[in-house]
Amino acid sequence: MGNKIINIGDVKVGTGEKILIAGPCAVESKEQIFEVAKTLSRSGVKFLRGGVFKPRTSPHSFQGLGEEGLLYLNEAAKMYGMITVSEIMSTEELKKHGNDIDVIQVGARNMYNYSLLRELGKLDKPILLKRGFSATYQEWALAAEYIIKGGNDRVILCERGIRTFERGLRFTLDISAVPYMKKLTGLPVIVDPSHAAGERWVIPSLSKAALAVGADGVMVEVHPSPENALSDGKQSLVLNDFDNFYSDIKGLLGE
Ligand code: PEP
Ligand code: MN
Repeated sequence: MGNKIINIGDVKVGTGEKILIAGPCAVESKEQIFEVAKTLSRSGVKFLRGGVFKPRTSPHSFQGLGEEGLLYLNEAAKMYGMITVSEIMSTEELKKHGNDIDVIQVGARNMYNYSLLRELGKLDKPILLKRGFSATYQEWALAAEYIIKGGNDRVILCERGIRTFERGLRFTLDISAVPYMKKLTGLPVIVDPSHAAGERWVIPSLSKAALAVGADGVMVEVHPSPENALSDGKQSLVLNDFDNFYSDIKGLLGE
């Protein structure tokens, strides 16, 4: 299968130009997302992530700001000329808010949500399809097929760690998934080391490994004060240190 190139604005995903997606796990306030967008855009990051509909393991945890958060995310992206990446969890959310997100993320817990995948297949919009944490390569590729079969072939795959016997880190980053899924599907594959590791200190190493093995980009979580984050603070890079991280991996991004 040939390598698929996906155009998003003036960015071509799947070429030598590797993408960097960064932002908080969740949009928490207008101030927070504006601060993050300002710093990231100054470094040259084009993609701003920020969850507003959050698939939390516990129903008692912060569930995201919803519509209000999406408004802030879009205002910040517009102000700093960035492309938004955010998760949609259901067909109902998609109907209401699909138009307000540039790149729609399907989270690990929703990789098997076939009615959602089918609806995403009807859009002319890039989809970031995360790997379910117990999904095989085949299952993941077939989930992508659901979207493609509907007519939308703008799918980017995202390896975000799988569940194994190992308990040292939150999940196990399956680095083999990058070359394997690129070969199997021809689609671009990016890596999310933040959810794979669950701890900040290992993110630079895993990002470098991902890019070295041929990933088309990485997605990382960043927060102005991770100790106060409403979700995933432990794995979020400190915003003030972002430039260090960026210069560390810049060479591998092809910049
Ligand atoms: C996320 O990216 O915010 C997220 C919830 O990731 P995952 O679906 O991979 O757990
Ligand atoms: Mn998160």
